[in-house]
Amino acid sequence: MSDLIRTGAADLARALAAGEVSSVEVTRVHLDRIAAVDGDIHAFLHVSDRALDVAADIDARRAAGEALGPLAGVPLAIKDVLVTTDMPSTSGSRILEGYMSPYDATVVARARAAGLVPLGKTNMDEFAMGSSTEHSAYGPTRNPWDLDRIPGGSGGGSAAAVAAFEAPLALGSDTGGSIRQPAHVTGTVGIKPTYGGVSRYGAIALASSLDQVGPVARTVLDAGLLHDVIGGHDPHDSTSLTGAWPSFADAAREGARGDVLKGLRIGVITELPDSGFQPGVAASFHEALAAMQAQGAEVVEISAPHFEYGVAAYYLILPAEASSNLAKFDSVRFGMRVTPHAQATVEEVMAATRDAGFGDEVKRRIILGTYALSAGYYDAYYGSAQKVRTLIQRDFDLAFGQVDVIATPSAPTTAFRLGERVDDPLQMYLNDVTTIPANLAGVPGISVPSGLAAEDGLPVGIQFLAPVREDARLYRVGAALEALLHESWGGSLLDRAPQLAQGGVA
Ligand code: GLN
Repeated sequence: MSDLIRTGAADLARALAAGEVSSVEVTRVHLDRIAAVDGDIHAFLHVSDRALDVAADIDARRAAGEALGPLAGVPLAIKDVLVTTDMPSTSGSRILEGYMSPYDATVVARARAAGLVPLGKTNMDEFAMGSSTEHSAYGPTRNPWDLDRIPGGSGGGSAAAVAAFEAPLALGSDTGGSIRQPAHVTGTVGIKPTYGGVSRYGAIALASSLDQVGPVARTVLDAGLLHDVIGGHDPHDSTSLTGAWPSFADAAREGARGDVLKGLRIGVITELPDSGFQPGVAASFHEALAAMQAQGAEVVEISAPHFEYGVAAYYLILPAEASSNLAKFDSVRFGMRVTPHAQATVEEVMAATRDAGFGDEVKRRIILGTYALSAGYYDAYYGSAQKVRTLIQRDFDLAFGQVDVIATPSAPTTAFRLGERVDDPLQMYLNDVTTIPANLAGVPGISVPSGLAAEDGLPVGIQFLAPVREDARLYRVGAALEALLHESWGGSLLDRAPQLAQGGVA
């Protein structure tokens, strides 16, 4: 095959199964690509030294005639929020520097069992708090489209690795948009599954009622193939949904045939007017809708009056849960320990460790969370936020009585410049306005590239949301739109990135 790094997971899988290429070859070209470009991109915090051995093992098993899963031999990048036995897991934090987990996250275990080849661990905002990857304790990741710009966050490393052809697939986690917003700003595809659809066991918790693990890829089909591997019930996760799921890869294949758009009712939220979005983002959104309407889809205006309170509610619920989840980093059980002086008490060691080990954004959210949960304020803050959460869930219920999917731009702007918002938390938080409602309601969401913004030439994504458990619908609709757009562009959005087309990154 001519250009293995640009080949998507589905095509790699086919070539591997047909014996046209070996997993060792595929893995080696990706490791070479990482070596060549990751100094600039910094998508990876750790590159596996076992990847070639794992690949050789898959090749040997294939040669011996063993029945392997559809993605066997395909490389995979893993967000550092997911614990792994053979690579450190830091969640982007100094407090977990070098931490080795005694077990694999369920999604990692399933990926290994399916024969995927872990390439390494990807960079992220510390404990998944952020929208730019600038809050990583290990330095930011850069957007392959423009190295002066953010790759999104918190999963900027996974999205950048996939966009820069360092990995064909990656795992991410999405608590308020950390899979979908990085996909939006890097021209990739990201899915936040239905809450409980993918195991959270071994995903270092940020906010347990919001967190969800999901796939990052260059096409909807590739994402579906990975979702099929990682999804489904896990007895280790008490919030994991039981019951069977359809094949998401099959849903994507069905969607690519196009007829799903005929009669599809797409809801557009009146309370999210164009004025809230960068002009090129709004324009790309409307072009995508028009392309779908031309195929018989119907655009229906719906009201979701409580969406606009989603950010406010989220930034009370998330810190509250995070402050509790992060209490375990106490210098005793995990990671770093700082002893300020020889006679230090346990409390002094704990305080010194948390002071040195956590970054500013993490401290900010711990303070917000403990305040929101404190006696006397609990009802006013946390209690009110939970009520808003219920109202947002009701908005979704009512909307899905009228439409099949809801569409929004995936984020208000294209990739902003590194440094532009890092000292302005409120601006950073407002970036999550369209992604957060899905986490509050537990519904699935997908971001699919919709085009380039005219004013800056940077990628834009369109988000589709579906009712709980209807993830397959997102794969059908996403693949249908993707097929239309790829046809009109004569390729994918990433094929239109001049800096990427030349094989370089800048
Ligand atoms: N940007 C959001 C936040 O900072 C989303 C994070 C996430 O999804 N992990 O909380």
